[in-house]
Formats: sequence, C-alpha cells, structure tokens
Amino acid sequence: MENSVEKVKCLIIGSGPAGYTAAIYAARANLKPVLYTGLQMGGQLTTTTEVENFPGYPEGVTGPVLMEDIRKQAERFAADIRFGNVDKVDFSGKVHRVWVDSSKEIEADTVILATGATAKYLGLPAEEKFRGAGVSACATCDGFFYRGKDVAVVGGGDTACEEATYLAGLCRKVYLIVRKDHLRASKAMQARVFKTENIEILFEHNTIDLFGTEMSLEGARLIYKMGTPEAREHDIWIDGFFLAIGHTPNTDVFKEYIALDKEGYIMTEGKSSRTNVPGVFAAGDVMDPVYRQGITSAAAGCRAAIDAERYLLEKA
Ligand code: NDP
Repeated sequence: MENSVEKVKCLIIGSGPAGYTAAIYAARANLKPVLYTGLQMGGQLTTTTEVENFPGYPEGVTGPVLMEDIRKQAERFAADIRFGNVDKVDFSGKVHRVWVDSSKEIEADTVILATGATAKYLGLPAEEKFRGAGVSACATCDGFFYRGKDVAVVGGGDTACEEATYLAGLCRKVYLIVRKDHLRASKAMQARVFKTENIEILFEHNTIDLFGTEMSLEGARLIYKMGTPEAREHDIWIDGFFLAIGHTPNTDVFKEYIALDKEGYIMTEGKSSRTNVPGVFAAGDVMDPVYRQGITSAAAGCRAAIDAERYLLEKA
C-alpha cells in the first residue's frame, strides 16, 4: 500500500459518456477533477462500431472515436484522467476514501459514480465470435445496420419488447426468442409486440448456438422445450442477434454504503444525481435502467458535476 494519501475536490469513477462529461463540467467549474477510467477505458461505447445518434456528428462516428473525442475535450480543461480501477471505497466518514488498484488511497470531498452497467450475454462462445459482426446488446445503437434484414431479439422483458418493436420498424422480420411460455414485459409493451405483424414470438425457445461465415452471422440454432421429452432443435436464418436479457449495474464496490434498488441500480434523489451519501453523486447507466443511451448518460454526467459544484459551494 502507498502511504501518501492524495486529496482531491472531485473524484470521478468511470470513463463512459457520463464520467467524461462530468469531467468536462467539473474541470470548467475549477473543481480540478481526477477521473479513474476503470478497466474498460471509454466504457460500453468502445464496443460499438458506428454511432449515428449522438448529436454533433452528422456523418456518424465510431464508438471508440466518440469516446476519445469526449476524453480530449475533458483534458482540454485539465481534467486529470488516469487509467486505474477503483476496487474499494469507504463512504462512512465526512471525507470519502477511495482505493485504486488495491494500493493508492484518495480522499475526496465529492465523488461521482459513473461506472455504468454491463449487458448480460447468454455465455455462448459464438457470441464472442460474432460480437460487432451480427451480435449486439443495443438495438437503438446498431439496429439501423440491419435495415430490410431478418434479426432476432432474445428476452421477454420490457427491453426485449421495446427493442423488438424498434427493430420491426427497420427490419423485414424480427424473431423474439423467449425462454418461458409468456412475456415478462408490461401489458402495454406486450400489446405493442402482439400487434406488430413482422414480429414472430418463439415462446419456450432457447438459443444454443450461432453460425455464419468468418465475417458475418447467418443464423441461430434454437431448441424448443429444452430439457423435456418434446425438445427439438431448429435453425433460424438471421443477420442480427440482439441480446436483451438485462444489464448488471457495476455497483458491487459501493453497495455497502450506497442505497441501491432491487436490481442493484444506484438510487438518486428526485431529479438530482444525489445518492444517500452526502457528497456522493451518480450518473449514467449505473443509475438508469431505462434510457441507457450515450446522450442521456452524458446529460446525467453534466447534472452530477453541477450537483457536486453546488454541494461544495454550500459546504464552503
Ligand atoms: P428484465 O430483467 O425485466 O427481463 C429480462 C428478460 O430476459 C426476461 O424475460 C428473462 O426471462 C430473460 N432472460 C434472462 N436471462 C436469460 C437467459 N439466460 N436466456 C434467455 N432469456 C433470459 O430486464 P429488462 O432489461 O427487460 O428490464 C430491466 C428493467 O428496466 C425492468 O424493470 C423494466 O421494466 C425496465 N425497463 C423499462 C422500459 C420502459 O418502461 N420503457 C424499457 C426497458 C426496461 P424470464 O422472464 O424467463 O426470467
């Protein structure tokens, strides 16, 4: 363990659009923010190819370039962006203590939690093979590339229904692969799926493999009534396979101190970014199970930086 404890006014944890945007605002407000990127520098967007819905890029931009641009913008205002992973916190006192890579200790007056969420995958080796080449966990991000094609969405919750409906407006056909014999989504969302003609729901189906060429996905192998005497395998031919089986918010490190909802997302007060711990704020996918877009995360990062600035002013 390093002995010297670094003191900072504003510590930001996470390097997605929420973290970087918080850094831009905090730096411009002279909070001298220090940001730790986490293991996946740039966050989930670095795993996306083309991003066409982030305002300011009329021709589109790749996820990695977009994240690099936001990082550079933060650095232009002298935000101190460091590669490192926060693996322990102590939010029990007046000053918030944070440890990076199990060694360096920081004492922060304010902390912005922007650690994001991780999409769940089925765990098939083929998902890795076709990631970014047919396999996606975000229809709003990648659906446009499958215009006029056949795709499948896995899941039976609100996200799966919303994504299937969205894709149905772009694609020729959408299979909705549901492992149970019913949907878990809200009735309104279900009704929308049922009345959309080009969505075919495959109830009681599980995906056991994906296949295609070296470059692109061609289909999925499904099993109907898995584990029963009636079980039978069949293939569907698709160009895109969208996972919508939920996300896991990255809150493990904070859960001892920060109030979480039953899904593990950070709870914030009203429209603010304030958590239950004074001086600790949250922004982006780590507190938002609904919108989960780059632009909504960026906006949340802006709010968190403004809340941190006001908190410090009130305390001064
Ligand atoms: P949910 O946890 O609600 O649903 C996940 C779905 O994926 C379930 O149907 C589940 O099946 C299925 N699933 C999970 N694991 C597997 C697996 N290994 N194989 C196959 N299927 C699997 O997640 P959502 O992302 O849909 O929603 C998260 C929260 O966000 C919810 O509270 C939801 O209401 C909210 N939300 C609200 C929206 C809105 O209001 N517009 C839009 C999107 C989300 P099973 O049912 O069998 O467990």
